[in-house]
Amino acid sequence: MRLVTYRRDGGERVGAVVGDNVVDLTDDFPSMLDLIDGGAAAMEKARARLERPSTLIALGDVELRAPIPRLRHNVMCLGANYYDHIEEGARLLQVEEKAPDLPMWFTKATTSVCGPFDDVVVDETLSPQHDWEVELAVVIGSPGRAIAREGALRHVFGYAAFNDFSVRDIQLRHQQYFKGKSLDRSSPLGPWIVTSDELPDPQALEIECRVNGEVKQHARTDHMIVDVVTAIADISEVITLEPGDVISTGTCGGVGIAMTPPQFLHPGDLLESEVTGIGTLRNRMVAPPVSERR
Ligand code: MG
Repeated sequence: MRLVTYRRDGGERVGAVVGDNVVDLTDDFPSMLDLIDGGAAAMEKARARLERPSTLIALGDVELRAPIPRLRHNVMCLGANYYDHIEEGARLLQVEEKAPDLPMWFTKATTSVCGPFDDVVVDETLSPQHDWEVELAVVIGSPGRAIAREGALRHVFGYAAFNDFSVRDIQLRHQQYFKGKSLDRSSPLGPWIVTSDELPDPQALEIECRVNGEVKQHARTDHMIVDVVTAIADISEVITLEPGDVISTGTCGGVGIAMTPPQFLHPGDLLESEVTGIGTLRNRMVAPPVSERR
């Protein structure tokens, strides 16, 4: 299933995409977290609703929000998880090129997440270095702590595309990534959650980022250093993963700051972040509204 949170007639609703339509599921599941919390029984109920859809709404007539508009916890992110991104980072910072010995974790604020087609504010008076990072995001279904590798994928509810949007000078200046990667409503998630039964192997996908139609990043997810199974087993050693938690699995080479000369996003640019088998996020960069200018 392709599960969406969407806005229609002023309210926020949950649905499943079938072809070019949305089947509304809000009567049974007021929010996406209610659906995920409901486990296998909820999924069965949702599937039954799809077989007898009461109303079909054209996908083009709704505004998609992030599938989980407000996460329960920060987005848990892996850094330095593709060799070509490590190479370009080492070249940029003039340090030795070396993959971390253990998974490198950081988080992004829940408020950094935005919808799959939302405008993203690029305030060039705050920073001239707004940058892209296309990633595969994993949405946790059943909770767990100290999850064994063998059963790790059974804890996955589904997958989505994500852009770990980053403001480089802030990221590097503060030594810790949290601030430079947590700009309000900067990081698109979606366009929907594809449930894990439809994507049995998260390492058999491709990620791609385009700016104004030009390919900047492209990789296969089997190039990840820490794969999805390892990520879940590793972080759950210390954190109880809860339904709806999102793990983003790191980006590949081709980020703007590592280019010669560096490239960054400007108002007017179109950022597209795609994961095969899932879909494409399309976000227009815009100048801040007058009321928010510094
Ligand atoms: Mg990243």
